[in-house]
Amino acid sequence: MISVENLTKRYNTITALHQVSFTTRPGIELVVMGPSGSGKTTLVNLIAGLDSPTGGRIVVNDMEVTALSGDTLTAYRRDHVGIVFQQFHLITYLTALENLMLAQYLHSIPSESDALDSLDRVGLRDRADHLPSELSGGEQQRVAIARAITNDPDLILADEPTGNLDEDNERIILDIFRQLKQDGKAIITVTHNPAVGKTGDDILYLDHGKIVSPPVREKNDFPVLH
Ligand code: ADP
Ligand code: MG
Repeated sequence: MISVENLTKRYNTITALHQVSFTTRPGIELVVMGPSGSGKTTLVNLIAGLDSPTGGRIVVNDMEVTALSGDTLTAYRRDHVGIVFQQFHLITYLTALENLMLAQYLHSIPSESDALDSLDRVGLRDRADHLPSELSGGEQQRVAIARAITNDPDLILADEPTGNLDEDNERIILDIFRQLKQDGKAIITVTHNPAVGKTGDDILYLDHGKIVSPPVREKNDFPVLH
């Protein structure tokens, strides 16, 4: 169970998030939709424990993330969360396999067979020895997803995961997410892309840092609630 309670984040005079509350759970993909600047990346960074809020609480499986610091916060990030970014963030001089094994090294003892299994899950086992520059954008994002799941996190956070991809690759990534949630992962995806929104089990709309009702005027651009 993941619970976000009255989460507020201010950067000096800018309120990036204001009293945001929601819950989600394993086996569900929650999509948070909102335009640029609505606070999506801020939300992901807070849940990932990469930044701390001005107010409110985040609880992930009985861990109060917002109360953690130092080693316990590092352990939370390492053992419980996998993050997928729009820009992939692969290390350019390491192969796909080495990128995964580096992530494992930071977590525990690297296991080549576990890393290959993760690449298999995203359909890229045969590309293990390729550098990111030898892979397409969609393939690089699949490696990044394999990296995010190789430590078997409870929660996967995705920030505009298909933002740099064409529609075919978007579909492949969304299929991988569908399988991950069937395996019982909780997924929180933030996006401004209605096509991604449509694939979520639950959907929330963020506007100027607040949870809002589905925008009526743009209703043709936004997925209908269930
Ligand atoms: P989104 O991901 O939806 O585009 P962000 O979470 O990146 O939105 O940003 C939300 C708001 O917070 C924006 O107005 C942005 O300019 C501001 N913001 C984000 N990060 C910082 C920061 N480090 N310092 C100051 N303002 C920030
Ligand atoms: Mg963003």
